[in-house]
Amino acid sequence: MQKVNITSRSLLIREEDVHGAFADNNWAETNQGLAYFSKQNKGIGWLVESSDFSELIKRASEKRHFDDLTTAYRVFNTEGDGFPGLTIDLYNEFLVVSFYNEFVYSLRDEIVSACKAAFPDVVGAYAKIRFASDLPESSKLYGEDAPEPLVILENGVKYATYLNEGFMTGIFLDQHEVRGRLVDGLASGKTLLNMFSYTGAFSVAAAMGGAVQTTSVDLAKRSREKTAEHFELNGFDVSSQLIYVMDVFEYYKYAARKGLKYDVIVIDPPSFAKNKKMIFTVKKDYGRLIENALEILSDDGIIIASTNASDLPKKKFRAMIEDELEAAGVEYRFDEFYSLPSDFATSRKYDASNYLKVYVIGVKK
Ligand code: SAH
Repeated sequence: MQKVNITSRSLLIREEDVHGAFADNNWAETNQGLAYFSKQNKGIGWLVESSDFSELIKRASEKRHFDDLTTAYRVFNTEGDGFPGLTIDLYNEFLVVSFYNEFVYSLRDEIVSACKAAFPDVVGAYAKIRFASDLPESSKLYGEDAPEPLVILENGVKYATYLNEGFMTGIFLDQHEVRGRLVDGLASGKTLLNMFSYTGAFSVAAAMGGAVQTTSVDLAKRSREKTAEHFELNGFDVSSQLIYVMDVFEYYKYAARKGLKYDVIVIDPPSFAKNKKMIFTVKKDYGRLIENALEILSDDGIIIASTNASDLPKKKFRAMIEDELEAAGVEYRFDEFYSLPSDFATSRKYDASNYLKVYVIGVKK
């Protein structure tokens, strides 16, 4: 194995951390431990705990404990489970394996064997290619085809997932605690507006938890049928819920003009999005999302403010929100905070792995 000297302050190895020549897409024995070289985002390699996938994946799988009411969750989370660049999600009896660099993908046969041993009940798996490549984003890795949709359970709620449609499956598993809070009744007896609703997962969770009506807003046309599918799956009459295919800023204007008010507003945008009119970034635009939400929030309301922007520290995110609350002159209380759930294990040696930040804020006008 090649020997390389590095001076890396985290698990991520950057160009400037390496002293001397090295072979790319290969293992390396470094002065800081076992590593591999392969380009990923801002790095050129990673320090790993071990190269033994059987052991790593078995150990990770034994740490996850969910009851029968939750059948989809993360079973292996990159650096949190000792091997940066790889994630594995369980969806009933299927796996979704995401490869974040070329080297991890080259090890797929070993990873598949380890998965088969650790998850004997799994009947099929899909691969997601999360690095620049000519390979398709999504493809079969082994075994049977998953049904379309594959209906999973989370906190007893049904969600329709599609395991072979690009990167996204229809649900972001990292938000299961926040959806769980809604199922437990955070919006019970209240109206809820779900901004950037995607497949309406927060809306359905809220409706299951007793919300009187939900409104889902997303720019993507597919969001209407996907959201309707989620309501139908859980026994709701879709016509009792509102779904808008619209830009969120347009919807804010529309709602303000109509004098609409909502008791709970969920704001969970992508960290970056481009549409015909503008480029949205959380860093630049989150304040405006809060400002506009305050105009259509009930006098005694709740804002669920969420971001997955890994380059926005928690303190800064909170300060952005506070600035808007102060400027609006409302009374407010940061009641609850959620970060990644325990199945999305993180590593203290790599800060960016803890990207999710969700505040539940009580607001009185
Ligand atoms: N909150 C969702 C996930 C959001 S994913 C959930 O928990 O499941 C991001 C979504 O934002 C995508 O569905 C995308 O279509 C939508 N989106 C991006 N820009 C938008 C805009 N300007 N207005 C409305 N929706 C937008």
